[in-house]
Amino acid sequence: MNSSDNDKWAALRGAAPPASELDGDPGAADPESYTGRGEIPQPQPLERHGPARVVAMANQKGGVGKTTTTINLGAALAEYGRKVLLVDFDPQGALSVGFGVNPHTLELTVYNLLMQDDVSIEDVIVKTNVAGLHVLPANIDLSAAEIQLVNEVAREQTLARLLRPVMSEYDFIIIDCQPSLGLLTVNALTAAHGVLVPLECEFFSLRGVALLLDTVDKVRERLNFDLELDGILATMYDSRTTHSRQVLQRVVEAFGDRVYQTVITRTVRFPETTVAGEPITTWAPASSGARAYRQLAREVIAAQDDRR
Ligand code: ADP
Ligand code: MG
Repeated sequence: MNSSDNDKWAALRGAAPPASELDGDPGAADPESYTGRGEIPQPQPLERHGPARVVAMANQKGGVGKTTTTINLGAALAEYGRKVLLVDFDPQGALSVGFGVNPHTLELTVYNLLMQDDVSIEDVIVKTNVAGLHVLPANIDLSAAEIQLVNEVAREQTLARLLRPVMSEYDFIIIDCQPSLGLLTVNALTAAHGVLVPLECEFFSLRGVALLLDTVDKVRERLNFDLELDGILATMYDSRTTHSRQVLQRVVEAFGDRVYQTVITRTVRFPETTVAGEPITTWAPASSGARAYRQLAREVIAAQDDRR
């Protein structure tokens, strides 16, 4: 992020807007008006896989759609023929549960990988029902890693080091962060090439993102010089409320084309998929939610193709 982004963010750090603004004309916040910003190219098949783009899915606020986005973006990328590894980096294990894995019965999780030198990443990776989509599962054991890692040499680089052996096998590695800016999230940011920030369309979520971006800046200055802000994804959007539209408008004003064209609408289909234990792309393939995550996957692939 450059300094003009920071200036824009400084303006967003304030309190929620006055009530009068809440009733105003949503104007440019209508997603139709900016989801159509540009053509998103159809992904081309790959001739070979890797090296992976590592993406940290981060926002220290819970319930904003990090895990849902990790699962469904991952599944949609795999549908487009990309090889994808999803890293569950939240002791809640919701990503693992989202694929029908019972994290409490697992013998090996990302915790063992972090803590035991004799465990390799291949030992821990599990396949999902989606072809080309693999998961590094987690459970509550991971909460101990946050404390135990403190005494390690190069503690912030632990995850980056452990992912290295599989970098050439995957096209995307997506790390589902826990809702905090603690050592696990710093590890994810240090391992990542880019950060994807799901942002719930609520006013107070803007202030939280300013704090997250400060952390991203610090990690870039101290640990990971090339870390990029890949994009902001508006989630839980409700086109019927002026509130949702106005938050979206502010986010677009602040971040311009750093905001993904794809907007994820609030729908009960997502909580339902958690119960089903599979991504929305396979559970309800024709739903608007599945289509939205496929469009996001096309945006992510197009950005990656532009970098090459
Ligand atoms: P996080 O990982 O940021 O805590 P989750 O992805 O777990 O957030 O989402 C929190 C809850 O909201 C889950 O129950 C999930 O099923 C639900 N959810 C996620 N995205 C949506 C959406 N677009 N519409 C409605 N509910 C959603
Ligand atoms: Mg989560």
